[in-house]
Amino acid sequence: MNNELDSYTTELIDRLYAGEDGAKPDDTLQAEINTMVIRAEEEDLTGPIVELFARLKALREEENIRADSLGLKREQLEALARKHQEIDEHMVSVGGRVDRARPIVEAANARVDAYLDVKDQEAPSGIELWDRILENQARIRQALGMDEEAWNTFSGQIRHAVSSVEELARLIELPADAVADIARVTRNYRMRLTPYYTSLIMPRLNDPIMLQSIPTGEMVDNAGVEIPPVAADHSPARLVDQFYPRVVTIKSTNMCAMYCTHCLRIAHIGKKDKMFSKQAYGEALDYIRANKRIRDVLVTGGDAFVLPNSLLKWLLDELDSIDHVRMKRLGTRVPVTVPMRIDDELLDILEASNDRKPLRVVTQINTAQEITPVSRAAFKNISKRVSAVLNQAVLLRGINDSQVKMWKLCETIHESYVRPYYIFNCSYRNPQFVHFRVPVEKGRDIVESMYGNISGDAIPRYIATAGGKIPMHRSNVMGREGNELILKKPWSGEEVRYPDADPEVYGDDDNFSFARYGK
Ligand SMILES: *Cc1c(COP(=O)(O)O)cnc(C)c1O
Ligand code: SF4
Repeated sequence: MNNELDSYTTELIDRLYAGEDGAKPDDTLQAEINTMVIRAEEEDLTGPIVELFARLKALREEENIRADSLGLKREQLEALARKHQEIDEHMVSVGGRVDRARPIVEAANARVDAYLDVKDQEAPSGIELWDRILENQARIRQALGMDEEAWNTFSGQIRHAVSSVEELARLIELPADAVADIARVTRNYRMRLTPYYTSLIMPRLNDPIMLQSIPTGEMVDNAGVEIPPVAADHSPARLVDQFYPRVVTIKSTNMCAMYCTHCLRIAHIGKKDKMFSKQAYGEALDYIRANKRIRDVLVTGGDAFVLPNSLLKWLLDELDSIDHVRMKRLGTRVPVTVPMRIDDELLDILEASNDRKPLRVVTQINTAQEITPVSRAAFKNISKRVSAVLNQAVLLRGINDSQVKMWKLCETIHESYVRPYYIFNCSYRNPQFVHFRVPVEKGRDIVESMYGNISGDAIPRYIATAGGKIPMHRSNVMGREGNELILKKPWSGEEVRYPDADPEVYGDDDNFSFARYGK
């Protein structure tokens, strides 16, 4: 084994002995160092050696006390440094650890400390608010006369869903002028909150649950030029939307358990509950069956989980029976708005289809407040039965338009068995919700602030929808000099040089791997 000391270590040791006329230790300090040296020499661990070197470094830098003033011979420290390297499985040197790795980690820690200090106050999750949510639930259940059974079933939650402002005003506190405004807007736009979703509302101005579910007068006042709904120019067949050759959606219903104030499909959704006919589904399936390019089908809505289990099972069976359809997705917000819907029968249907071909569930969670112990359990159960649970959030003013709120959202869902997939810039197409729109650059700053600061698979892709999903990431490739790229680390701004593949090697097919043999 090579046990030479590396330059990090020799440079550190050089510094510990550099200079003259250093300060002298007092007896207490000398005794402390003696004890540390004994531990470092006697114990077969890296820790005491690292602590000793870190202490010596601090004494040298902060108090100008050199190692020789502490009675330490250079050979003695070199021997300890070699010992460290021998013990460490990856031959990490004590100089690398003390002088490089630890300062780098400390500098990185500073990037997340401000977030960690405020996240639970500024963006509490429904798990952290659970005691208060339970109080809300008791109050709401009593006001609506719901028994245990009604509360804990999908049908009970839908039967008791709140759809008038008068009813809403009995359940949560609303200023009188807000009540009048909501009454005005709900003549045009449907409001429906499940009692469960209502219980997530906290009494405060612009609560993120209220913003998503209770329409305000802005929705009618904003009404500018109506742009035709997406389907008008992207629906090649009944119930089907298609932007891409290989992925299509079936809009399986126009119903949702809760109606979102920012719904992209506001023109279709929630006007009036309608069950679609088997002929309609049949025509959509025929289109898919006849088009062999299609490999991935999204069953969306509305909300796929408001469909009865029997219909959902039939649709999945049909899709699975089409040879070229290799995978499916179901789009649903129900685990967030009525988690009671996720019953064993539904889970069995999901698993059976996933066993045939991969099935993913794509949901929409926009704030950590939507994750409660109940919705987390629903996502956990779903995640055991399907190949992935993914989140498509919408970047919404007041709901998730700050670094703290977005990081907290992504971390909370990640801890709830859901992977952040997309974050959409709120569309320009619907004038009804211009008040929710957040500037494109702000979204970029927020999403890119996550790189290097939370797990990579908790970072969503930032998307603008404009007849398909257009990725919005700012490039981290700053330039090129010869064959070297200049890359920027998004978390620190630091630029690094990155040698590209050698074009001569890449271009030389005649000598690539096995091509060089047998000539
Ligand atoms: C979102 C969407 C898709 C799926 O896009 P992916 O990038 O594959 O997630 C496909 N078709 C339509 C109409 C969509 O809106
Ligand atoms: S769940 Fe989706 S389709 Fe339903 S109202 Fe909300 S955004 Fe629209």
